[in-house]
Amino acid sequence: MKIAIVGAAGRMGRMLISAIVKAEGAELAGGVEMTGHPDMGRDLGELAGFDACGVALTSDTRALFKAADVIIDFTAPAATVAHAALAADMGTCLVIGTTGLDVSQQAVIDRAAQKTALVQAANYSVGVNVLLGLVEQVARILPEAYDIEILEMHHHHKVDAPSGTALALGRAAAAGRNVNLDDVADKVRDGITGARRLGDIGFATLRGGDVFGDHTVMFAGTGERLEISHKASSRENFASGAVRAALWVGGQKPGLYSMKDVLGFA
Ligand code: NAD
Repeated sequence: MKIAIVGAAGRMGRMLISAIVKAEGAELAGGVEMTGHPDMGRDLGELAGFDACGVALTSDTRALFKAADVIIDFTAPAATVAHAALAADMGTCLVIGTTGLDVSQQAVIDRAAQKTALVQAANYSVGVNVLLGLVEQVARILPEAYDIEILEMHHHHKVDAPSGTALALGRAAAAGRNVNLDDVADKVRDGITGARRLGDIGFATLRGGDVFGDHTVMFAGTGERLEISHKASSRENFASGAVRAALWVGGQKPGLYSMKDVLGFA
């Protein structure tokens, strides 16, 4: 499978280069960055911290989409929307890792999925995808009197909050309770907030240092608290999960798939 990367010089992009090179059945078809990027023209292997692999970083996105069977995109919301439209146009499959998309940007992704096969996940680690299933189950079992709070911490470069994974955990908990997250989410607390509303799902965001991604879902009852946590200790698991998704999605029918489909949890 010929796999290429948009945002190849980013934190995740560099991890993806090495994950593609290591993956059986995957061939690194190229990497793209924005025009004027300081690493333009550099060998992707060297960019990822190992030997040259003979593939250089370019800015020709269209040529990349033509050359590859699957594109992996961990960039920024506006770029991902443009890439999804291009993927639909050219019939290239796309694996989306970018988080922080708003409702109208998500609508573009949903439309693109009518024409080509896309995988979208807020988190490509196997552990977090197991956690999503567990959270839905626990939320279904425990009564509403158990307050659900979701705490996340990420490195100080992260630009969106709460994290895409925290929101996905919130959606899983809401699904377990048979409610819509938008109706019960409490994302910002400041000043005299009044008492907590029964049934709300609260979020708390921490930012600092080089934390790759910590998430805890708490079910706080009277006299006891159940907490389920996931801690990422490297970006490698996100990258290898995204490459696994790329190998899976190549050749699938048009549609919007999740990591549950890739892992066979669906
Ligand atoms: P980063 O800023 O280090 O990398 C993003 C790269 O994309 C940059 O190098 C930037 O120059 C490039 N880029 C932006 N627009 C572009 C365009 N139009 N064409 C080509 N390249 C473009 O960020 P990061 O830490 O690698 O994270 C990227 C995204 O992935 C964020 O939204 C983050 O939340 C998300 N993320 C998702 C997961 C997951 O498992 N789904 C894991 C980690 C990060």
